[in-house]
Amino acid sequence: MRSHFVRAYPPAQADLAARRWLLFRGGELVVLGTDGQAAFIEEGGQLDLAEGTPLYLGALNDVAYTALELAPDAPLPPGARTVGLRALYGQLGDEEFSIAGYASQMLLWRRSSRFCPVCGAPTEPVGGDWGRRCSSCGFARYPQISPATLALVHDGEQVLLTHKPGWGPMYSIIAGFVEPNESLEACVHREVLEEVGVEIDTVIYGGSQGWPFPAQLMVGFSCRYAGGALAIDTQELDDARWFHVDSLPPLPGKISLSRQLLDAWIRSQGRETPL
Ligand SMILES: [Zn+2]
Repeated sequence: MRSHFVRAYPPAQADLAARRWLLFRGGELVVLGTDGQAAFIEEGGQLDLAEGTPLYLGALNDVAYTALELAPDAPLPPGARTVGLRALYGQLGDEEFSIAGYASQMLLWRRSSRFCPVCGAPTEPVGGDWGRRCSSCGFARYPQISPATLALVHDGEQVLLTHKPGWGPMYSIIAGFVEPNESLEACVHREVLEEVGVEIDTVIYGGSQGWPFPAQLMVGFSCRYAGGALAIDTQELDDARWFHVDSLPPLPGKISLSRQLLDAWIRSQGRETPL
């Protein structure tokens, strides 16, 4: 029994009797089960899989997981429904939710890597991994991941939260993409300074998370406020302010690393985390 997901790479094929299908239709996943409890389609269901090319992803607990993109008008199996990846959070176990995000990214990679970005010729598999090599000029590429940092800036019992237009009452921590040839630490200092104008020190790693919307890697840090008055980047934000741990605004959903960092900080202040 494999207790964690073991990734497979082309040209490997599913060699297990038990199979589950990560079917995507119109950008959403096809699942069984009623709202709040989802399950992937099992092999042998009443499903016509003749169309499309399956993408074998790997195995978990001796079950093979294969992704497949259905035509937008493909009929659903009896009892199935479609649901967006983000809305699937909490309806599956953590491992299967993670596999669903992986499937989404690999299908995106397959759609976007068929031609060489240098000369436009068709690409072919490198073999042994997900890489694709140009059949004409030889340029090779691999699945793209965009790293981004999250910065929780704290000062005693206060935390610095930001707000973007369209967020409603929710506030969150500072986030930004890593620039080419930039360290994660340098990115955190730069983003905090750019977005809210303050200096920080004691930058401590707090965890990371794949974020398949569409292909980010979020890396979280907590940072101690070290000086400077708030000066908001109004291109990005419409508010930023200090909140006391006992009077926090609505926070992001539990799915996000932002929220997990905030919950860890709230607990470090001896408080209960909000629902
Ligand atoms: Zn080329």
